[in-house]
Amino acid sequence: MIAKKVFPFVLCVCLLACSRVPLSGRRQLNMLPENTLIDMSLNSYRQFLSKTPPVANTTAADQIQRVGNKVSSAVVQYFSKMGNAKRIHDYKWEFNLVNDKTINAWCMPGGKVVVYSGLLPVTSDDAGLAYVMGHEIAHAVARHGNERMSQILLTQMGGLALQIALSEKSTETQAALLTAYGVGTTVGVILPFSRMHESEADRLGMVFMAMAGYQPAKAIETLERMQKATGKSGVPEFLSTHPSHANRINEAKAFLPQAEKYLK
Ligand SMILES: [Zn+2]
Repeated sequence: MIAKKVFPFVLCVCLLACSRVPLSGRRQLNMLPENTLIDMSLNSYRQFLSKTPPVANTTAADQIQRVGNKVSSAVVQYFSKMGNAKRIHDYKWEFNLVNDKTINAWCMPGGKVVVYSGLLPVTSDDAGLAYVMGHEIAHAVARHGNERMSQILLTQMGGLALQIALSEKSTETQAALLTAYGVGTTVGVILPFSRMHESEADRLGMVFMAMAGYQPAKAIETLERMQKATGKSGVPEFLSTHPSHANRINEAKAFLPQAEKYLK
């Protein structure tokens, strides 16, 4: 009985809100207007930076900017070439370094990237950093945040979720979404991505670094350094819900020939 009721609803949602992830071609359900998510993320981003001022005018901060701009430019160029520029049209890229020993980095929907200083020994050089940038940018441009929130909304709120998702953005809408999601200021930032999202971000990260001219083989070295640095403890976003380090390294090795095809 329930199945009968749910099926047309799910079908309806999919007709309205299903799209494909660029490159991977995977079908995904994104019910929220991307602009709403970008607005919400921007608020979180500003709050974060007001509490954690970014490092400026250091070699490391310059590196973050340099590599970030290179990777994002390559991604923008690719989306334009594929006739999909609209997907990231509202992105305003920013790359910041913050002083924090955590091994972490994230990219919000809208293109705001933050790298924690604790990650720099792991990334080691521009190519290693390009891989992490590529991974984080992949979460954003593949709209993993939107997909994750859509899944949660669909599970928790059912029909109401659709109503909210399709309504014009408003303060009430945003408040309802935040309540439903239950994480307040971290929305769109440190989402508990699924393993599937993490694996997809790993592969897209290798593609994006290659598009920017970095050898994707360097991703494997970066993952190996990550394995040494973190061992079994700690679950920063970059590692959250990931398959084990060993699996991740093996997947990167297997994917390497495909990623190398995108080298300039
Ligand atoms: Zn990730």
